[in-house]
Amino acid sequence: QHHNPRTEVSMTKEFDGKTVIVTGAGSGIGAACAEQLAAAGARTVVADLNLSGAEAVVARIEAAGGMARAYAIDVSDPESVKAMVDFTLSSFGRLDGAVNNAGIGGPLKPLADYGLDEWKQVLDVNLNSVFYCMKYQIAAMLQTGGGAIVNMSSILGTNGFANASAYVATKHALVGMTKSAALEYSAKGIRVNAVGPGFIRTPLVENAMDEATLTGLAGLHPIGRLGASHEVANLTLFLLSDQASFITGSYHLVDGGYAAQ
Ligand code: ADP
Repeated sequence: QHHNPRTEVSMTKEFDGKTVIVTGAGSGIGAACAEQLAAAGARTVVADLNLSGAEAVVARIEAAGGMARAYAIDVSDPESVKAMVDFTLSSFGRLDGAVNNAGIGGPLKPLADYGLDEWKQVLDVNLNSVFYCMKYQIAAMLQTGGGAIVNMSSILGTNGFANASAYVATKHALVGMTKSAALEYSAKGIRVNAVGPGFIRTPLVENAMDEATLTGLAGLHPIGRLGASHEVANLTLFLLSDQASFITGSYHLVDGGYAAQ
């Protein structure tokens, strides 16, 4: 058989042979990450509380020739998270990457007005969830010698924001959890990084704010607009890929210049 290295190179995709889980992949940033990963060759687990959203993303991936499975999950439930990782191993035999992205904005109001249950729910969905995810993902990755994890923080992982204290607290905490996990597993071949998007036009942001507020938010970004989900996915894929082989334990902004001010 004629061997043509140039053809071989062009046929090889960056995530060929890799399996990646994306949580909150039924919409917004997570959906963009799942679609780009599948387009780059990954077998992708599209996990979301909203199963019909996840199934729609899988349908788009399959229509584009990619391989994905939808999975219904509540990331705030450790049993559900463990079942997601078990499903991934039984479906695809290995786990190479994860994007821990599922989250909620929580109520917009001053801290003292938060109810105890409202506060706890944001911590459960945005923060405890990522502990559950990494706990089971890392155990799975260690079976095959390594992997890469991206935890979806926010520009609000370093900056404060009025009337979003619970969200801001969880996104700051994710940065610290990311650094510690990176230190613990870097010698075992697992890289862990956090991504800090500015305000991105997704259902999470659009549902929480009216058009005038969105325009005001856009103005906070020196680039002069809100970000797009695919712009966050571009950075996330880079961090998951072997191109980022020397990058771990760090927090990477994709914020249109927001934090430079
Ligand atoms: P963004 O893309 O900005 O993070 P979205 O609201 O578009 O905002 O996406 C967040 C995703 O996380 C949604 O698809 C939502 O269904 C999902 N999600 C929210 N809570 C949970 C949960 N407890 N378990 C799993 N997925 C969740």
